[in-house]
Amino acid sequence: MRIPTELHEGYKNFRAGRYKQEIERYLSLAEGQSPKTMIISCADSRVDPATIFAAGPGELFVVRNVAALVPPYDETGGFHGTSAAVQFAIENLGVKNIVVMGHSFCGGVQAALAMEADQPVGRFIRPWVGLLAEARDAMLNDPNSPADENGRLNLLESLAVGVSIQNLSTFPFVKDALNTGQLTIHGARFSIAVGELQWRNPETGQFAQVQV
Ligand SMILES: [Zn+2]
Repeated sequence: MRIPTELHEGYKNFRAGRYKQEIERYLSLAEGQSPKTMIISCADSRVDPATIFAAGPGELFVVRNVAALVPPYDETGGFHGTSAAVQFAIENLGVKNIVVMGHSFCGGVQAALAMEADQPVGRFIRPWVGLLAEARDAMLNDPNSPADENGRLNLLESLAVGVSIQNLSTFPFVKDALNTGQLTIHGARFSIAVGELQWRNPETGQFAQVQV
């Protein structure tokens, strides 16, 4: 099996470009990592944290999943990939910030809406985006919620960031890190077409444009 052509081309560029230019950094990173920030982002190919924050290797500890979700603390077993990453970030790396970053046109959040409308949603996607069920239902039952599909998607994308932040705070080691002031949790939202980032106000849950 050969490496796919586009990956091979990219790899050759990396070896001749970034790796060559930053070889000292890579050599020292081989000794260990100490990123200050963890980003929880969507797996969506258009929302790459390293690109958005212009970060180099070693700077961001990233976990990406469908819809940038964090499940609640759960001791009942299962394959808790995102929870494991959060634990590692706090207990082993001692990150100072966790940023939950949602985005526009999120297929995962869309699936949470589709599920409610009895549209087909994949076997593994369904319970995962079902983490948004409570927020989704509250939104749909709120007469002040947007009536149009795009407006609802937009709103639920923002609410989803709050759900993940709320779930994060149910982990005992997250609570401890928040209490000792080691950790700050942030919410963000990336608008793909315009390349703009919005930051969440933890008091109001509203998002405001990040100034450049
Ligand atoms: Zn997404």
